[in-house]
Amino acid sequence: MSAVLVINSGSSSFKYQLIDMATETELASGLVERIGEASGHARHNAAGSDRVEQTLPIPDHTAGFAVMLAAFAATGPQLSTANLVAVGHRVVQGGSIFQGPTVIDDEVLAQISALSDLAPLHNPAHVQGINAARAQFPDVPHVAVFDTSFHQTMPASAYTYAIDTALAAEYGIRRYGAHGSSHKFVSEAVAEFLDRPLAELKTIVLHLGNGASACAVDGGVSIDTSMGLTPLQGLVMGTRSGDIDPAVLFHLHRKAGMSIEELDVLLNKKSGMLGMTGNGDMRDVEDAAIAGDAVAQAALDVYYHRIRGYVGNYIAQLGGLDVIVFTAGIGENSGIIRAGALAGLEFLGIEIDPAKNDPFSRVARVISTDDSKVTVLVIPTNEELEIARQTLAVI
Ligand code: ADP
Repeated sequence: MSAVLVINSGSSSFKYQLIDMATETELASGLVERIGEASGHARHNAAGSDRVEQTLPIPDHTAGFAVMLAAFAATGPQLSTANLVAVGHRVVQGGSIFQGPTVIDDEVLAQISALSDLAPLHNPAHVQGINAARAQFPDVPHVAVFDTSFHQTMPASAYTYAIDTALAAEYGIRRYGAHGSSHKFVSEAVAEFLDRPLAELKTIVLHLGNGASACAVDGGVSIDTSMGLTPLQGLVMGTRSGDIDPAVLFHLHRKAGMSIEELDVLLNKKSGMLGMTGNGDMRDVEDAAIAGDAVAQAALDVYYHRIRGYVGNYIAQLGGLDVIVFTAGIGENSGIIRAGALAGLEFLGIEIDPAKNDPFSRVARVISTDDSKVTVLVIPTNEELEIARQTLAVI
């Protein structure tokens, strides 16, 4: 048996999962949050044991890792016997430097830190988490797995913004995309599920969670994705606007006197479903629309319109289409949203079967009709497992 510990660290929290790589199953998972606040919180779930919750002060990430280690020691599994072979760290932004998973040394850590300009909320937090984890687990390799690397295969025509070339080069302005671990995991799972060679498949992955992105995958390779320099671009999300005319910002600055900081908060935190309906949680928006709320329905129509636009775009970029696959919180759980997003595309050979789409299920499944030219699937994503696989592959 060998195990990989996957860490996803934010500025005041981190999530972890210990995965047995022989069976690719979760041995334990948990969350340490409210780091640096007066009272912190930690949760640990070990397979086969009751969940353990603690409230205690957690001054910094190093203290957070000590809390995690104590939880492993108290409730198991025992890390000393788990044969931990590596720690895999999720890193949001790898810029154009990191094309794949990378074993972390001081130079790599400095590069991740230097990319903070492109991901100011995420990369500094990852560096804190990595430093604390390296101190706790000094004897195993630590690997960075980047959300952006899967999209490094995009052609320049897809990742280039049509602005001054020198300015773009100086400031690293281009499309990087995100959700790469999910898009990679799910597009590979499609080939396995259908028992068809990955190299033959043209797939559109719709990762619809709080954050949402679409990806055009040709033969296992990302050729286009909807997120851009940052995760703000593309689909309508829980609190992010997705695509918008940049001139809206100039207009709001000049006419409403909004500052750059206010506009940043507006588009990232107060837009999307939240901005349009007052509620960023898709379950609530869906329930309201079902109950006849016209505002909620109008917002869903915007959400669907945007997805259909990307589906059409990516069919053109791929030069055909075999599979559309839904994943993440909304994509996996909401038959209503899946049906709404693809409604009207029957003329393209995209036909959802309500008898397969409507029932709730947690497993990978086909939801298109037997006659549908394009196979429509739902496949649960597993970003932690993908990070663990890539970690193991590189050590
Ligand atoms: P994150 O991007 O934070 O990882 P998730 O992938 O967990 O997000 O997705 C969270 C979103 O999924 C929320 O908007 C939530 O309302 C939505 N969601 C979960 N279950 C359902 C459901 N049954 N119907 C509609 N939306 C759902």
